[in-house]
Amino acid sequence: MRRPKSRTVRKKHKENEFQEIEVLNEWIESQKPESGFNPLSLDPLQSKMPIGRIVDPQSGAVSFSRYAGARKFYELPISKRAKNGLEEGGFKKMTDIQVASLPHALCGRDILGAAKTGSGKTLAFVIPVLEKLYRERWGPEDGVGSIIISPTRELAGQLFDVVKTVGKYHNFSAGLLIGGRKGVDTEKERVNELNILVCTPGRLLQHMDETPNFDCSQLQVLVLDEADRILDIGFKKTLNAIVSQLPKCRQTMLFSATQTKSVQDLARLSLKDPEYLSVHEEAVTATPNRLQQTAMIVPLDQKLDMLWSFIKAHLRSKILVFLSSCKEVKFVFEAFKKLRPGIPLKCLHGRMNQEKRMGIYSQFCESHSVLFSTDVASRGLDFNKAVDWVVQVDCPEDVASYIHRVGRTARYLSGGRSVLFLMPSEMKMLEKLQAAKIPIQFIKANSKRLQPVSGLLSALLVKYPDMQHLAQRAFITYLRSIHIQKDKEVFDVMKLPIDEYSASLGLPMTPKVRFLNQKKKSKKESEKSSFLESEIFDEENESVMPKEELLVEDVKDKKVDKDFLLKDGTQDVGEQNASEIGDTMYAPHSCLT
Ligand code: ADP
Ligand code: MG
Repeated sequence: MRRPKSRTVRKKHKENEFQEIEVLNEWIESQKPESGFNPLSLDPLQSKMPIGRIVDPQSGAVSFSRYAGARKFYELPISKRAKNGLEEGGFKKMTDIQVASLPHALCGRDILGAAKTGSGKTLAFVIPVLEKLYRERWGPEDGVGSIIISPTRELAGQLFDVVKTVGKYHNFSAGLLIGGRKGVDTEKERVNELNILVCTPGRLLQHMDETPNFDCSQLQVLVLDEADRILDIGFKKTLNAIVSQLPKCRQTMLFSATQTKSVQDLARLSLKDPEYLSVHEEAVTATPNRLQQTAMIVPLDQKLDMLWSFIKAHLRSKILVFLSSCKEVKFVFEAFKKLRPGIPLKCLHGRMNQEKRMGIYSQFCESHSVLFSTDVASRGLDFNKAVDWVVQVDCPEDVASYIHRVGRTARYLSGGRSVLFLMPSEMKMLEKLQAAKIPIQFIKANSKRLQPVSGLLSALLVKYPDMQHLAQRAFITYLRSIHIQKDKEVFDVMKLPIDEYSASLGLPMTPKVRFLNQKKKSKKESEKSSFLESEIFDEENESVMPKEELLVEDVKDKKVDKDFLLKDGTQDVGEQNASEIGDTMYAPHSCLT
């Protein structure tokens, strides 16, 4: 707790602050880098040179040091408060994307920032957000000054933590507005007092629609982290609705490892002559150099054997496993847990309640374990202690998705390894990845070390009848996920050995899948049934729940299964509402801690 300060001390502080802001404004204005110029190309500044306002001892003339080319945070025109926050967070030297974009961002320009995963993009926008509001002398009564949007709740939480660290000495209030938690009424009461909102799109829009007097008309800075994801089709309606309620005159910053260059996207956000800062465009590889990547052929019906064997061979590692649907994640997690591999297992997907999700996320940050996840964990997350392995059991939908998944390891200066399982029919993906400057070594699986697990799974499914439902639904959603993939050169559901796959999950009989039968009957007709129409997106859109999943024909008990699935289908819509009624992590009004 800070002691109340006397009026004179407060006045003195205000005066100092005022002077600092004046100097910062003059410094920023007088040394603005040229538009279109990349400060990385400049020689690093000499640390011994004077920083900031320079007064010539003889003539008394005042000038300012150049800040484009700065490699250390203290050489930048930022407040003492920011410097203290950065120092306490352990940040001294800037990363390349920070060197390139901060000089432009600090002088108020719109930014399109692209840099590899784990290269420090967060600070490249958090610092300008804090500093803009500071220099504007933003106060409690000024309301929302900045909005930072993240595609997922976990990433929003992580960004909020960075805002808290760097903004520790700024007097702003910030709130984390994400779906899936209770207490929306309190949130609605307080949201107008917040200066910085870190949010997921759905929750932000909910406040815009429902919170009385919610006012963003004074917004200064808008940030889209993982911008290409937020701009893609899944968030289109929500984002358009959000942007239509924001003032056009503002600073906008977009960051991603796979940045959008679409003119339409930029027009949607009314970007003004954005600075395109791509620090790794010339790089030989599109992924971090410290990342060792491998791919191997694994037939569909051997995927679980291979995954099981992999886990058993890496019991002392931190492993992130990507699967394509929530149902698969649930099944593999529950099944492997019962088989006790000898390492803690965890799972993360969009259908879990938010408290649980946050809990799992922080536990995985702390310990050696295996986390089975959908793509909800593929973007932006910086797991505290380094992830050793990223295992992609199911092929990513495209090159960008691959880059983000493997990007959960080899962050900042640490190393990491990844392995991609490809089915023989998906080999085209390897070519696409290699063409996109991703150095993947193709290796042969050592079949001698393969530990078959399907026999154990069959026994498990007999012992635990609930598991049979899980297995069936994992089976269906996997086939569905392949069926709805856009890239037909890579994904072809008709090429899959479905009976063998079903048996490999331990299922006694292959469940009937109506869409496959239809497809077999009339290829053309089934192609007409556009999937986008039948998908239900959840708030973060990280998982899709195709309605056609309702069409599973369980060989055993049609009625029960239908009810079960119907419930799930409607639950998704309900969940969307429920997730819109969540709560906020508040910072007290006076500061961010
Ligand atoms: P990106 O968004 O590019 O994937 P992050 O912003 O999440 O990367 O940063 C990756 C890691 O690097 C984080 O752990 C972050 O704390 C660390 N980091 C970022 N910038 C610096 C810096 N200048 N000095 C030291 N560590 C940094
Ligand atoms: Mg990031």
